Amino acid sequence: MTSQLEEARRQILAVVREFVEKEVVPVASQHDEDDTYPADLVDMMAEMGLFGLTIPEEYGGLGLDYTTYALVFEELSKGWLSITGPIGTHSILSHALTKHGTEAQKAEWLPGLATGKLRAGLALSEPGGGSDVAGMETTAVRDGEEYVVNGNKLFITNGRHGNVFFLLAKTDTSIEPAHRGITGFIAEKGPGFTAGRDLNKLGYRGIDTTELVFQDFRVSADRVIGGEEGKGFYQVMDALETGRINIAARAVGVAQAAFDAAIDYSQRRVTFGKPIAERQAIQFMLAEMATKIHAARLLTRDAANKKDSGERIDLEAGMAKLYASEMCAEVTLDAMRIHGGYGYVKDLPLERYYRDAPLMIIGEGTNEMQKIIIARSLLKKYAV
Ligand SMILES: Cc1cc2nc3c(=O)[nH]c(=O)nc-3n(C[C@H](O)[C@H](O)[C@H](O)COP(=O)(O)OP(=O)(O)OC[C@H]3O[C@@H](n4cnc5c(N)ncnc54)[C@H](O)[C@@H]3O)c2cc1C
Repeated sequence: MTSQLEEARRQILAVVREFVEKEVVPVASQHDEDDTYPADLVDMMAEMGLFGLTIPEEYGGLGLDYTTYALVFEELSKGWLSITGPIGTHSILSHALTKHGTEAQKAEWLPGLATGKLRAGLALSEPGGGSDVAGMETTAVRDGEEYVVNGNKLFITNGRHGNVFFLLAKTDTSIEPAHRGITGFIAEKGPGFTAGRDLNKLGYRGIDTTELVFQDFRVSADRVIGGEEGKGFYQVMDALETGRINIAARAVGVAQAAFDAAIDYSQRRVTFGKPIAERQAIQFMLAEMATKIHAARLLTRDAANKKDSGERIDLEAGMAKLYASEMCAEVTLDAMRIHGGYGYVKDLPLERYYRDAPLMIIGEGTNEMQKIIIARSLLKKYAV
């Protein structure tokens, strides 16, 4: 790592830590309780450059690497998982355009994405299925210099507040295998493309997750990502590797916040004349929690490092996402156990950490799908 990158990383992390401590932590629980969108915080993240974290400097971004990206997501998640939502989903389109967009598309879209003037989302999952991407039903039919899109997307982060989406739709419904008929578009909201209902969630509250409705939505042919039909599946799978890095990093951040609260509380809470931290039952829990967090962090950094070296990281990102998300669910439950009744009530953020944790198990490809991806990569790597 160059000293310039090291310094840029140090600076952005210091800014993010201060933001989390001063701005996010004081308001997170209230936003979660009321399920209100933290518009001020999101605007502050735009001012800090977080919407353009990995977008190259020539397009107005900070041009940072995926290792820094993971560290930023971890820090933000220590304060409140939801605050990572708008920049996480945004980075999927940024990545897809940076890597697969035409020069004209990069020049047109990346500067607005870098400043956060444009707020992006990923329109992939549908009411009929998220895991079975090739089974999607949304279609885009060519009509002169445009495509006409019809269909519904569901569970879309930033669906209400976002204005531009990485839309996946079928331009060929007869081709086999079916994923080769999927094309990636840059789709801006407008006539024929609207947000539908908002979903009421267990956790990850305050951030909009909605339906998206496409009814004879017309999108210009120059908004096909990379200018070529049938490449959408590959583009989104590649971009989702970065999504899995950020999901793993978010899981580490939430788990770390739960652990920090638990180790503090265990030394203050006295039962039968002694702090509970002096009981072996509690010590063993703390030891396991810290070990698992450390392992998840190392897996996440390893995946991010490999991504920075330009390698495909299906295996590493899948492992990091799988392990970190399961770890987060376990650690947040243990932190709740250590807090006893106080862990279960809303006076403390422990129950929020616990409710937020399952998002990481489901989002960006469920953990069952990660196991399929990991196994496939292993069988390819160790083929006899
Ligand atoms: C809060 C939230 C935010 C989200 N944000 C976005 C977003 O911004 N953009 C977006 O496109 N999507 C988003 N998603 C959708 C998410 O990616 C999907 O929910 C996820 O991919 C699973 O799809 P599904 O819900 O349709 O479940 P299904 O695919 O129906 O799966 C149901 C169950 O079956 C299992 N399963 C499915 N197929 C197999 C198989 N072959 N083998 C073994 N098990 C299998 C799954 O693991 C799961 O346990 C979000 C979801 C949530 C909850």
